Amino acid sequence: MKSDALIIGGGLSGITTAHRLAKRGCSVVLVEANEDVGLGANFANGAMLVPSQSTPWNTPGILSTLLKSFVMQNSAVRIKPKAVLSLLNWGLRFLKNSKPHLHELHKRRLLDLALFSMDVFEEYYKGYADQFDAKKCGTIKIYRDQPSLEAQIRSNRHLSEIGLEWEALTPDQTVKAEPHLQAMAPQLVGGIRFSTDVVADPHKYCQILRDDLLASGQIVHVDCQANKLLMSGDRVIGARTTSGDILAKNTILALGANVKKLAPSVAGGILVCPVKGYSLTYDTAAFNDLPSSPVIDEGLHVGIVPINGKLRSVGFAEFAGHDNALNPKIVRQLDRFTKSVYPNLSQMIDGCKREPWAGFRAMSADGLPYIGETSSKGLWVNTGHGHLGWTLATGSAELLADLITGKPTALDASTFAVNRSPKR
Ligand SMILES: Cc1cc2nc3c(=O)[nH]c(=O)nc-3n(C[C@H](O)[C@H](O)[C@H](O)COP(=O)(O)OP(=O)(O)OC[C@H]3O[C@@H](n4cnc5c(N)ncnc54)[C@H](O)[C@@H]3O)c2cc1C
Repeated sequence: MKSDALIIGGGLSGITTAHRLAKRGCSVVLVEANEDVGLGANFANGAMLVPSQSTPWNTPGILSTLLKSFVMQNSAVRIKPKAVLSLLNWGLRFLKNSKPHLHELHKRRLLDLALFSMDVFEEYYKGYADQFDAKKCGTIKIYRDQPSLEAQIRSNRHLSEIGLEWEALTPDQTVKAEPHLQAMAPQLVGGIRFSTDVVADPHKYCQILRDDLLASGQIVHVDCQANKLLMSGDRVIGARTTSGDILAKNTILALGANVKKLAPSVAGGILVCPVKGYSLTYDTAAFNDLPSSPVIDEGLHVGIVPINGKLRSVGFAEFAGHDNALNPKIVRQLDRFTKSVYPNLSQMIDGCKREPWAGFRAMSADGLPYIGETSSKGLWVNTGHGHLGWTLATGSAELLADLITGKPTALDASTFAVNRSPKR
């Protein structure tokens, strides 16, 4: 039987798209290559829903950061020499999009999508917050040098314009907001609190949505890989999978950084690069007195997040193609960064069981996700959310579900279209 939608990929983008379509009365089939949903880029990610950080990574001046990364020992960006060639096309566009006016434009569009996403997310928060450890605890960004703090305060003006709350903190106020920062206070020039940011476990969220889909009679195939798209004339009519052919009126690619692997020709125009990020989760369950909100150290480019009674450090951007090996040097550096933010917790951290992990952010060259129909009829895409896939998941899925079902969209969908014209 032909379903209304076949969703390929059971990460945050795929499972949320399936859920939003099912809510509209569509019959959906979701296929996921792994043994369960939510084991891809979200599995041990930063767990933060952060409209406050809705900024493309290619800020003006990114070229010098990238060049420095080749020589700096402790750089948060690593480019493996073997990956350089494959980066050329994407990299040039990434650099082009760092022009100040483009960066500003894309920042505002990302923020619109992030705010819309938080509106849609509220439904999940109200329904399931305690089941996926969701907390509206805000985030604190800390600064070790005055120019960076001032630049952030200037950059925050657009947040004030749309009413997103933030507050500049003196070093004393920063320590008051997160007392565990006391030990590194001498290095602090200040902080910024974003009180509306949320922390929530994305893996548990994926499992909740999977159960919800199954309970309402929808189909979720795990351990099921799509190997080929099925065509009828110029229309995509489903996919050949390891569980057989699955036909659908609409096929949705929610494959993260793998989109080109399955559909190299039909997905033309989609330019995403896998950017490996790392996390190190310390099992701090035996300890009571832990940091209570996420702290992002702007200088070290690391976030330290309390989640499920554990402490998780996240960061790094490693360009290594699709090689998913864990680089032990980066894991050690993440550990050092954690202790640099919380020297008072060093001893406790050293005694904890720890889980290193790495996942791929699917990073587009202009910093905006791809949400919409491809050049092939019946084939849709939802990918390219980079470092913000949890923040943007519910809004992106809502937008795509509206497009597929022909409903008016809450945001201008052309901004995220596959064939959006490159800006100059
Ligand atoms: C270290 C790190 C920290 C992060 N922290 C945050 C954060 O704090 N806040 C935030 O907003 N975002 C964060 N992100 C980004 C966010 O995790 C990702 O953007 C998001 O998880 C991407 O989801 P996705 O569903 O698009 O892709 P994926 O999670 O990659 O899902 C794609 C799925 O498709 C499946 N698949 C691939 N090929 C096939 C096939 N042929 N057939 C069937 N299935 C297939 C894969 O197995 C996978 O499960 C972080 C990312 C990393 C790496």
